Amino acid sequence: MKNLIFEQCHHHFNDIVAIRRDIHQHPEIGFDVERTAGIAADALDALGISVKTGIGRTGVVGDMEVPGASKRIALRADMDALPIQELTDVPYKSRIDGKAHLCGHDAHTAMLIGTARILSHLRSSLKTHIRFVFQPSEEVFPGGAEAMMADGVLEDVDEIYGIHVFPIYAVGEYATCVGPMLAQSDTFRITLTGRGGHAAFPHLTIDPILIGAQYVTAVQSIVARNVDPLDSAVVSVTQLHGGDANLQNGLAGAALNVIPPKVLIGGTVRTLQKTVQIRVREQLERLIAGLANANDATYTFDYQEGCPVTYNHEPCVTNVVSNARELVGKEKLIFPVLPILGGEDFGCYSQEIPACFVMVGAGNKEQGIVNMCHHPQFDIDENCMIYGMALLVSLAMR
Ligand SMILES: [Zn+2]
Ligand SMILES: [Zn+2]
Repeated sequence: MKNLIFEQCHHHFNDIVAIRRDIHQHPEIGFDVERTAGIAADALDALGISVKTGIGRTGVVGDMEVPGASKRIALRADMDALPIQELTDVPYKSRIDGKAHLCGHDAHTAMLIGTARILSHLRSSLKTHIRFVFQPSEEVFPGGAEAMMADGVLEDVDEIYGIHVFPIYAVGEYATCVGPMLAQSDTFRITLTGRGGHAAFPHLTIDPILIGAQYVTAVQSIVARNVDPLDSAVVSVTQLHGGDANLQNGLAGAALNVIPPKVLIGGTVRTLQKTVQIRVREQLERLIAGLANANDATYTFDYQEGCPVTYNHEPCVTNVVSNARELVGKEKLIFPVLPILGGEDFGCYSQEIPACFVMVGAGNKEQGIVNMCHHPQFDIDENCMIYGMALLVSLAMR
């Protein structure tokens, strides 16, 4: 079986590279992925697979029905690019300024098209129905997964699998684990209001800059002193605004003799367990409440839950592990990989039905392909697509 699968992956490889490069040159953002979705829908249609478009606004769903099968598995690819300028000099570089496939979703889409072609060819050996899911807007939450679920993408699906190219690992390697693999990714926004005034008369003001600075320092203690050292969490303050400076011009022209009336603070929280998330959230608010109270200031605290944890269910992981071992051998399967605190909206599916997410090695140190996802010079060793397709095909053929 292994030889047959790799033979098929190699047979389709050049076409899949061409599709990936075409999508790479024409990146689309968020839900605006009509061109990419059209490529996926046409590819499925050409195989005689029943296709539905406009699922979750611009998503595409293809159902391959297998006579006599009772179970259905879904294979998911995301299609959206990022609003970042690509800084590579590859011949298939993005043709659109300020947009680029720097998370590898072009490769995910191309690999799922390749998988559909291979499974069409091997259809007589299939034992389960296969649903091909091409999802928009993975990078922006609430995104494509929620929208597609609202349109019924998981109806009648028993298990769902997703893969992500990951240049930290070499081509030919896979990585996964049981349980939480990627983080719950939340955001918080605070408006801290004091009383502005003349900087030479600070005693007549309530200085929100000083309170804001104390808050930023205080939240550093949350992970260190409120989270069990054996659990994981990240709290990062990523925005701190006060005064009237024009951020583009720096402090030129800013009123440096005025204490402003308010500051805005924002950031992100990443956790792997609900209990930790609740603890961090409570402490974030408790600290701002305490500091505001101690200084006679007021505040608003807004906490938005984002992408839930990507949770790998044991029976699905067992399938991945046995297939991956057969395809590349035990030593090239990184299992169990440690969870990472990045977010992925595949987590939405994994909260609903049994699921497994797998990192597919896409790095190549000799060729300098080492930059991580979202780096302006991110790229993949395209040979990784053989391994991505091989894993998806093997999961579908159980
Ligand atoms: Zn990304
Ligand atoms: Zn991604």
